[in-house]
Amino acid sequence: MRRILPLVLLLSSPLWPQAKKSIFVITDAEGIAGVCRQDLTEPHDPELRQLLTGEVNAAVQGFLDGGADEVVVWDGHDGSQTLSALTIHPKALLLSGSLSASMTLERHYAAIAFVGQHAEANTRGGVMSHSYSSLGIQNMRVNGKAMGEIETRAALAGAFDTPVIFLSGDAAAVAELHAIVPGAETAAVKEGLGRYTCISKSAEAARTATREHARAAMAKIGSVSPYRIEGPVTIEIEYTTRNSLAPGAASRPGAEVVDDRTIRYHGQNFLEAWTRYSLY
Ligand SMILES: [Zn+2]
Repeated sequence: MRRILPLVLLLSSPLWPQAKKSIFVITDAEGIAGVCRQDLTEPHDPELRQLLTGEVNAAVQGFLDGGADEVVVWDGHDGSQTLSALTIHPKALLLSGSLSASMTLERHYAAIAFVGQHAEANTRGGVMSHSYSSLGIQNMRVNGKAMGEIETRAALAGAFDTPVIFLSGDAAAVAELHAIVPGAETAAVKEGLGRYTCISKSAEAARTATREHARAAMAKIGSVSPYRIEGPVTIEIEYTTRNSLAPGAASRPGAEVVDDRTIRYHGQNFLEAWTRYSLY
């Protein structure tokens, strides 16, 4: 005979599986302490690898210290060639390779975080700031507002009800996240004085700050709201002069060609517009 437990007892029982607190970390190179020159962002540069791995591992340790059950780290810089399973934090999971539009967010992480993040294109004081492609994209606008990787990925996470709890990067990237998610924990590891000029913390100091704020960020789960862009959405991509549109671009689903290097994708919501953009 099947025994039916009262619901309260069942929920409080240790046998009842609790939701696993999994954190998804998006990594990049331009926002890492000590990285102020373009050549240092080469994925195989040995110094970049050490600097990035050190900050990523500090963030992983901070999330674990703060109560995360699992930390999935996506090697997000330039073709997933910078992080290695040999040197990643022993308890982290390393996600390598390019991702589809949803970036695995359908797995419903407890939160997402950015490590080594730079500011959006055209940001004064942003160290090597750009929006997805410094050579290919001049401007990216969502509902007419200029946005880069931070805000579009925060909105993508928001479409899956997932909050952003942490960012490390230069001061401009920190300001960019705080403008939309004031409650997120951040670690500013350097300050840009120009595109290729910055005052940076040492790797050790950047790791300490990253670990401390990542740990503190775990306590924000539940109080920091997911960042959402509601209603119908347009995503407009203005390419650089190196990157004019293909002749058939107007026939892409939901697309409107604005001029020879600008295209606008329409969607009933952010996710639809984003998915349409991400196909190309
Ligand atoms: Zn980037």
